[in-house]
Amino acid sequence: MKCPFCGSTRLGHIIYGLPDYTEELIRRIENEEVYMGGCLIMEGYPEYHCYACGQNVGKRPAFYARRGEKRVIEDYRRIATGIHFSYDGFPEILMEKKNDQIRLELRPAGPDMLPPYERLMTQTEWDRLLDLLYTQLYVHEWGGIYVDRDNPDGGRWELTITFTEDRKRVHRGIGGFPPYWEELKAAFLPLIREAGIS
Ligand SMILES: [Zn+2]
Repeated sequence: MKCPFCGSTRLGHIIYGLPDYTEELIRRIENEEVYMGGCLIMEGYPEYHCYACGQNVGKRPAFYARRGEKRVIEDYRRIATGIHFSYDGFPEILMEKKNDQIRLELRPAGPDMLPPYERLMTQTEWDRLLDLLYTQLYVHEWGGIYVDRDNPDGGRWELTITFTEDRKRVHRGIGGFPPYWEELKAAFLPLIREAGIS
Protein backbone atom coordinates (compact mmCIF):
# COMPACT_ATOMS: atom_id res chain seq x y z
CA MET A 1 0.00 0.00 0.00
CA LYS A 2 1.16 3.51 -0.79
CA CYS A 3 -0.40 6.83 0.09
CA PRO A 4 -3.08 7.85 -2.46
CA PHE A 5 -2.13 11.51 -1.87
CA CYS A 6 1.66 11.49 -2.12
CA GLY A 7 2.68 7.95 -3.06
CA SER A 8 4.82 7.42 0.03
CA THR A 9 4.95 4.00 1.68
CA ARG A 10 5.63 5.53 5.12
CA LEU A 11 2.23 4.41 6.35
CA GLY A 12 1.44 3.53 9.94
CA HIS A 13 -1.64 1.59 10.99
CA ILE A 14 -4.01 3.86 12.90
CA ILE A 15 -4.85 2.63 16.39
CA TYR A 16 -8.06 4.11 17.77
CA GLY A 17 -8.91 4.46 21.43
CA LEU A 18 -6.72 4.94 24.49
CA PRO A 19 -4.12 2.19 24.69
CA ASP A 20 -1.47 1.53 27.34
CA TYR A 21 1.64 3.31 26.26
CA THR A 22 4.00 0.39 26.72
CA GLU A 23 7.63 0.55 25.67
CA GLU A 24 6.74 -1.71 22.78
CA LEU A 25 3.98 0.64 21.62
CA ILE A 26 6.21 3.70 21.92
CA ARG A 27 8.87 1.91 19.89
CA ARG A 28 6.29 1.08 17.20
CA ILE A 29 5.11 4.70 17.07
CA GLU A 30 8.69 5.92 16.74
CA ASN A 31 9.26 3.40 13.96
CA GLU A 32 6.16 4.79 12.18
CA GLU A 33 4.55 1.35 12.23
CA VAL A 34 1.48 2.67 14.02
CA TYR A 35 -0.19 6.03 14.63
CA MET A 36 -2.42 6.98 17.51
CA GLY A 37 -5.76 8.05 16.08
CA GLY A 38 -7.34 9.08 19.36
CA CYS A 39 -10.72 8.26 20.79
CA LEU A 40 -12.86 9.77 18.08
CA ILE A 41 -13.44 7.57 15.09
CA MET A 42 -12.53 9.67 12.08
CA GLU A 43 -14.98 9.93 9.20
CA GLY A 44 -14.54 7.04 6.79
CA TYR A 45 -12.42 5.10 9.30
CA PRO A 46 -9.01 5.73 7.73
CA GLU A 47 -6.77 2.73 8.24
CA TYR A 48 -3.40 4.41 7.80
CA HIS A 49 -1.61 7.61 8.66
CA CYS A 50 0.90 8.81 6.08
CA TYR A 51 4.04 9.90 7.87
CA ALA A 52 5.26 11.66 4.71
CA CYS A 53 2.34 14.01 3.99
CA GLY A 54 0.34 13.81 7.22
CA GLN A 55 -2.91 12.61 5.66
CA ASN A 56 -5.03 9.83 7.11
CA VAL A 57 -5.73 7.45 4.25
CA GLY A 58 -7.24 4.09 3.36
CA LYS A 59 -10.77 5.26 4.07
CA ARG A 60 -13.79 3.20 3.25
CA PRO A 61 -15.35 4.41 0.03
CA ALA A 62 -18.55 5.74 1.54
CA PHE A 63 -20.93 7.86 -0.44
CA TYR A 64 -23.49 9.83 1.43
CA ALA A 65 -26.86 10.96 0.21
CA ARG A 66 -29.57 13.01 1.84
CA ARG A 67 -32.95 11.38 2.21
CA GLY A 68 -35.06 14.08 3.81
CA GLU A 69 -33.49 14.72 7.21
CA LYS A 70 -31.44 11.58 7.07
CA ARG A 71 -27.96 11.03 5.72
CA VAL A 72 -27.57 7.55 4.32
CA ILE A 73 -24.51 5.65 3.18
CA GLU A 74 -24.63 4.25 -0.32
CA ASP A 75 -22.67 1.40 -1.84
CA TYR A 76 -20.63 2.50 -4.86
CA ARG A 77 -21.50 -0.77 -6.64
CA ARG A 78 -25.16 0.17 -6.50
CA ILE A 79 -24.92 3.80 -7.53
CA ALA A 80 -22.10 3.89 -10.09
CA THR A 81 -23.51 4.39 -13.59
CA GLY A 82 -20.47 5.03 -15.71
CA ILE A 83 -16.71 5.11 -16.07
CA HIS A 84 -14.93 7.16 -18.68
CA PHE A 85 -11.18 7.19 -19.15
CA SER A 86 -9.19 9.13 -21.69
CA TYR A 87 -5.46 9.64 -22.02
CA ASP A 88 -3.40 10.90 -24.94
CA GLY A 89 -2.40 7.98 -27.12
CA PHE A 90 -4.46 5.47 -25.14
CA PRO A 91 -7.78 4.05 -26.36
CA GLU A 92 -10.71 5.97 -24.95
CA ILE A 93 -12.71 3.78 -22.58
CA LEU A 94 -16.40 4.23 -21.93
CA MET A 95 -18.61 2.14 -19.70
CA GLU A 96 -22.23 2.94 -19.14
CA LYS A 97 -24.84 1.20 -17.03
CA LYS A 98 -28.39 1.72 -18.16
CA ASN A 99 -31.50 -0.36 -17.53
CA ASP A 100 -29.32 -3.05 -15.93
CA GLN A 101 -27.17 -3.37 -19.03
CA ILE A 102 -23.54 -2.34 -18.89
CA ARG A 103 -22.14 -1.30 -22.20
CA LEU A 104 -18.41 -1.21 -22.86
CA GLU A 105 -16.86 0.77 -25.68
CA LEU A 106 -13.19 1.20 -26.57
CA ARG A 107 -12.31 3.81 -29.13
CA PRO A 108 -8.87 3.28 -30.67
CA ALA A 109 -6.43 6.16 -30.45
CA GLY A 110 -4.57 7.39 -33.48
CA PRO A 111 -5.42 8.84 -36.84
CA ASP A 112 -6.63 5.62 -38.52
CA MET A 113 -10.30 6.06 -37.58
CA LEU A 114 -10.63 2.39 -36.68
CA PRO A 115 -14.12 1.35 -35.58
CA PRO A 116 -14.75 1.15 -31.83
CA TYR A 117 -14.83 -2.17 -30.01
CA GLU A 118 -18.11 -2.76 -28.22
CA ARG A 119 -19.69 -5.39 -26.04
CA LEU A 120 -21.79 -5.80 -22.91
CA MET A 121 -20.12 -6.28 -19.54
CA THR A 122 -21.37 -8.68 -16.89
CA GLN A 123 -22.37 -7.40 -13.47
CA THR A 124 -19.49 -9.40 -11.95
CA GLU A 125 -16.99 -7.77 -14.26
CA TRP A 126 -18.36 -4.33 -13.43
CA ASP A 127 -18.32 -4.98 -9.66
CA ARG A 128 -14.76 -6.31 -9.87
CA LEU A 129 -13.55 -3.21 -11.67
CA LEU A 130 -15.27 -0.91 -9.16
CA ASP A 131 -13.86 -2.92 -6.25
CA LEU A 132 -10.40 -2.59 -7.74
CA LEU A 133 -10.80 1.18 -8.17
CA TYR A 134 -12.14 1.75 -4.66
CA THR A 135 -10.44 -0.84 -2.47
CA GLN A 136 -7.03 -1.12 -4.11
CA LEU A 137 -6.51 2.14 -5.98
CA TYR A 138 -8.38 4.32 -3.45
CA VAL A 139 -9.78 6.47 -6.23
CA HIS A 140 -12.11 8.21 -3.73
CA GLU A 141 -9.00 9.72 -2.14
CA TRP A 142 -7.51 11.04 -5.36
CA GLY A 143 -7.26 14.74 -6.05
CA GLY A 144 -9.32 16.52 -8.68
CA ILE A 145 -6.47 17.83 -10.79
CA TYR A 146 -2.82 16.90 -11.25
CA VAL A 147 -0.67 19.47 -13.04
CA ASP A 148 3.06 19.21 -13.54
CA ARG A 149 4.38 22.44 -15.04
CA ASP A 150 7.75 20.82 -15.64
CA ASN A 151 6.14 18.11 -17.74
CA PRO A 152 3.70 19.92 -20.06
CA ASP A 153 4.13 17.23 -22.73
CA GLY A 154 3.37 14.44 -20.28
CA GLY A 155 -0.12 14.12 -21.64
CA ARG A 156 -3.64 14.98 -20.66
CA TRP A 157 -5.90 12.47 -19.00
CA GLU A 158 -9.29 12.32 -17.39
CA LEU A 159 -11.10 9.73 -15.33
CA THR A 160 -14.78 10.39 -14.70
CA ILE A 161 -17.02 8.18 -12.62
CA THR A 162 -20.72 8.94 -12.74
CA PHE A 163 -23.38 8.01 -10.22
CA THR A 164 -27.12 8.06 -9.94
CA GLU A 165 -28.83 11.43 -9.34
CA ASP A 166 -26.50 13.18 -11.79
CA ARG A 167 -23.48 12.94 -9.52
CA LYS A 168 -19.97 12.56 -10.78
CA ARG A 169 -16.36 12.61 -9.68
CA VAL A 170 -13.79 13.89 -12.11
CA HIS A 171 -10.05 13.40 -11.82
CA ARG A 172 -7.80 14.85 -14.46
CA GLY A 173 -4.26 15.83 -15.18
CA ILE A 174 -1.93 17.73 -17.45
CA GLY A 175 1.50 16.16 -17.24
CA GLY A 176 0.83 15.19 -13.64
CA PHE A 177 -0.38 11.83 -12.41
CA PRO A 178 -1.73 10.32 -9.20
CA PRO A 179 0.36 7.74 -7.27
CA TYR A 180 -1.83 4.90 -8.53
CA TRP A 181 -1.56 5.91 -12.18
CA GLU A 182 0.24 2.78 -13.41
CA GLU A 183 -2.25 0.61 -11.54
CA LEU A 184 -5.12 2.48 -13.19
CA LYS A 185 -3.77 1.87 -16.68
CA ALA A 186 -3.09 -1.78 -15.78
CA ALA A 187 -6.73 -2.16 -14.74
CA PHE A 188 -7.82 -1.33 -18.29
CA LEU A 189 -5.11 -3.31 -20.10
CA PRO A 190 -6.95 -6.66 -20.27
CA LEU A 191 -9.82 -4.92 -22.09
CA ILE A 192 -7.45 -3.28 -24.52
CA ARG A 193 -5.76 -6.61 -25.22
CA GLU A 194 -9.12 -8.26 -25.70
CA ALA A 195 -10.14 -5.59 -28.18
CA GLY A 196 -6.87 -6.04 -30.05
CA ILE A 197 -6.24 -2.32 -30.30
CA SER A 198 -3.62 0.03 -29.00
ZN1 LIG B 1 1.06 10.77 1.89
